[in-house]
Amino acid sequence: MELLGPVQVRALAEELDIRPTKKLGQNFVIDANTVRKIVRDAGVQPGEHVIEVGPGVGSLTLGLLEAGAKVTAIEIDPILAGALPNTVAKFAPETQDQLRVVEGDALQVDLADLDARWGEPTALVANLPYNVSVPVLLRVLADCPSIEHALVMVQAEVADRLVADPGSRTYGIPSVKLQWFGAARRVGSVSPHVFWPVPRVDSGLVRFDRANPPDCNSSRDEVFRCIDAGFSQRRKSLRSALANWAGSTARAEEAMMAAGVSPSLRGEVLRVGDYAGIADALQRGS
Ligand code: SAM
Repeated sequence: MELLGPVQVRALAEELDIRPTKKLGQNFVIDANTVRKIVRDAGVQPGEHVIEVGPGVGSLTLGLLEAGAKVTAIEIDPILAGALPNTVAKFAPETQDQLRVVEGDALQVDLADLDARWGEPTALVANLPYNVSVPVLLRVLADCPSIEHALVMVQAEVADRLVADPGSRTYGIPSVKLQWFGAARRVGSVSPHVFWPVPRVDSGLVRFDRANPPDCNSSRDEVFRCIDAGFSQRRKSLRSALANWAGSTARAEEAMMAAGVSPSLRGEVLRVGDYAGIADALQRGS
């Protein structure tokens, strides 16, 4: 199958009279090798129902269709969303029936209500818009529990954050929250030169595999509130950082002790299971 190269991407942009915007993170992949690497690392199986967020002019979409996936593509830009079926009809007509386009904001569209024709989606594969990459990733994993694995391209620094280990400089809220859903690892770096227009930043590939959340009584929202509080004052001990969330420093300290977490530690060294334990202990104590 012919995938999109620089000539085809520019021709499509010209035809559609598109001026890619930074606000929507519109940098389109113009390199077939990069697309095929993403699809390979994603482990997409023929017939698998894949969600793609932000298909743009269709570079990655065509790669997914080539691998035999059925693709639900969610695109916020109405011109790009409208043009995608035509692009697929032109470059890969035999796969037209494997594509469905949803025009809308991936942070807003009802993901639970996706047409069930192909069964529940089992993968997310996306070159995510940079400014909303973390909230989109966490939302899709939360709202589509059927998704077992994902491969996302994000800004290199964000990739580092998503896969960081406790105690490292880049460990933060996205690292801990992603642990709730499963395990993430870095599977590659991507040069700015495979995009048009060329972004100012490097990109990284993150592979995600679903795993069970921590065994706890608290809801995901409750644990996530505890994580947000834990990172709210990075230089302070967790006991002080959690004081507001728990109601007082003493209650925060009690919950930490009950969860077997030393109150003098800082939020940056705990894993999601520790936060879940603290949230549970606070609930038990209240
Ligand atoms: N997948 C294409 C590729 O690899 O060439 C384009 C990726 S481009 C980095 C990001 C795409 O996400 C753009 O097409 C942009 O219009 C779209 N986008 C931006 N914000 C979005 C949102 N909130 N929901 C859905 N799509 C969005």
